[in-house]
Amino acid sequence: MAKPRVLTPAAAFDEAPIFLDYQSTTPLDPRVLEAMTPFLEGSVGNPHSSHSLGQSMRRSVEQAREMIASSIGASTDELIFTSGATEANNLALRGFPWKSRKARVVSARTEHSSVLAVLEWLEKHQGIAVDWVDVDEDGLVDLTDLERKISEHTELVTLMSVNNETGVIQSIEDIATICHERSVAFHTDGAQALGKVEFRTTSGLSMASLSSHKAYGPAGIGALYCSRNLKDRLEPLLVGGGQEDGIRAGTVPVALAVGFGRAAELAHESFESDSARYRQFFDAMLSSLEEGVPGAQLNGSVVSRHFGNLNIYLPDVDSEVLVQSLREVAVS
Ligand code: PMP
Repeated sequence: MAKPRVLTPAAAFDEAPIFLDYQSTTPLDPRVLEAMTPFLEGSVGNPHSSHSLGQSMRRSVEQAREMIASSIGASTDELIFTSGATEANNLALRGFPWKSRKARVVSARTEHSSVLAVLEWLEKHQGIAVDWVDVDEDGLVDLTDLERKISEHTELVTLMSVNNETGVIQSIEDIATICHERSVAFHTDGAQALGKVEFRTTSGLSMASLSSHKAYGPAGIGALYCSRNLKDRLEPLLVGGGQEDGIRAGTVPVALAVGFGRAAELAHESFESDSARYRQFFDAMLSSLEEGVPGAQLNGSVVSRHFGNLNIYLPDVDSEVLVQSLREVAVS
């Protein structure tokens, strides 16, 4: 009989590099694993079944939803579980109830590919044109240009909260206010937001995509926050068993939801102490790089940024070659 194959994660090897690529994914917090373990070991029941085991699972899913919702100041009925932020971005943009054949959307070239690719898809398949807002040399959206780019045909603005490459933080409140004043819906890709900014829903914010594995939670789950007045009109991407109020069919993975809930709670609780720690690491690392590498320069705003991110320009270096040849650290 063939020996069963056991898959070993690379980080289990002695010579594993130091992981510094936290905006691609984060390790699972042991407290998150602890919360998830009972749901991975021996517990059974589909949260959508009506027997007592199913109902017990359902209660755990709903508790997790409540933990995520309260960490961002939303109501539980405004959160739709998805497989991650990619799906949430797809649901937000493709499921949006576009009204007119002349509909336009405003976005920025600095968005994540899971937004840019959907915008390309919308243009190609639904004729929805994109107006690109200017971004300054610090990576910040030019708010005056945003006001200019919103036209009578603009139905949606989509701009991310925290950039995954530069760590630059956009002013979600200011963008939401502009959208609110112009009666345009506003979606933000908040995949990098949990634990990195004090992310709260605010008037004018219609939708926000969230991801668990960027905030010390498990990979494979995320959520779309969708305000009540829009949720009823959102078109599902997946249809089937009517889960998630008919907006996202498929069995909710209980252990992942519980882990995501605990991760969101922890991100909210430790935001201030984590931010102070990030700042210390950031300052120390930036000054040693600037001292050690002539011409090294920080990319992106020094003020409005997530200090757990250090995006650095190194002159005359092919970054891909450098990243692949580094043996002791894993970076992007
Ligand atoms: N948006 C941003 C800004 C991201 O950083 C990522 C992950 N790289 C995603 C969306 C996609 O998230 P997920 O892996 O949860 O699908």
